[in-house]
Formats: sequence, structure tokens, C-alpha cells
Amino acid sequence: MDEIKNKIRDIADFPEPGILFKDITPLMQSPVLLRQAVELLIAPYRNANITAVAGMEARGFIFGSLAASMLGVGFIPLRKPGKLPHTTHKVEYQLEYGETSLEIHTDAVGENDNILIVDDVLATGGTAKASCELIQLLGGNVVACVFLMELTALNGRSLLTNFNVHSVIQY
Ligand code: IMP
Repeated sequence: MDEIKNKIRDIADFPEPGILFKDITPLMQSPVLLRQAVELLIAPYRNANITAVAGMEARGFIFGSLAASMLGVGFIPLRKPGKLPHTTHKVEYQLEYGETSLEIHTDAVGENDNILIVDDVLATGGTAKASCELIQLLGGNVVACVFLMELTALNGRSLLTNFNVHSVIQY
């Protein structure tokens, strides 16, 4: 675990002054540690009958695609507004400053789907909550939300009390 932690670096004042950004690009350069990190991410849900993984743009695409491949299921992209080409559903949510939204293709999830939601960081929980709502809008079952890192001071879990939450590293 320490080896994985050592591959995540803090960048001060990115993308805005006062924010300490957790940068996972060094981890991505290590094939062995990246794989180990994704193994730890999905470990509790290996036998949970997951039928698809959903990941949020952009770093959720990296960990989510790997998780989907390792679980032997497909991947569903949850994207920023205006990026998905087919018919979409949208959920709006609050950022620290302002509002944004996430979109999903309306045919991405079926009623019998058991979805694992994957992202790199759980901060305030707004992104993950919107993701859960998109899956549920289409009738899917959210088995859990999993994150490589959880910024515990921001208490993102308080927005996700209706869902199972798992994180590999807590700060
Ligand atoms: P939340 O909606 O406040 O929980 O923010 C989570 C989203 O912001 C995730 O999609 C993360 O990728 C991104 N995020 C927040 N903080 C960081 C960070 O320190 N490093 C990388 N991504 C972050």
C-alpha cells in the first residue's frame, strides 16, 4: 500500500489556489502498482455479480476501464455535458463553486444491471451522488461506489449514505 501511496503526488494550488491536488500520473507509469491499485479497488466486489462498471470523466475512465476489464464486464462512460453523441439523461449537481452536470446514454444500463461506480477521488461526494442517480434513473442497481482515494475531511460519504462506499487510501 505504501508503494501505491508513494506514486501519488500532491500538487499545491491546482487547479485553483488553495487546492491540494492528488496527482495519479506517477502511479499510471507503473504497470505493476497500477494493477495492484485496481485489484484493491474491486476486491470487495469480485463476487458481487457486477454486470457493468461506470466511470466518471476523466480519471474514472482510467480506473473504471481497468476495473471493468479485470471483472470481465463492460464499461459505461459518465460524461461532462455535451460529450456523448447518442440520446442522454442528465443529472445536475453542485461543485464547491457553481454547478455542473453528468450525462449517460439512455441505453447504457438495463433494469437487471448491477453497476459498480468507479472514480479516482471521493471529495465532497457530489460527483458520485450524481453518478448513482444516473444509474438509478435507468433502472440499474448501484452495488457500490469505489474510489482509489478518499479525502475524509470533506465527508463525501454523508452524501452517499444510501450506497455502499469503498476507498483504498484515506487522507
Ligand atoms: P466531489 O464531487 O467533490 O466528490 O469531487 C470528486 C471529483 O473531483 C472526482 O471526479 C475527482 O476526479 C475530482 N477531484 C477532486 N479532488 C481531486 C484531487 O485532489 N485529485 C484528482 N481529482 C480530484
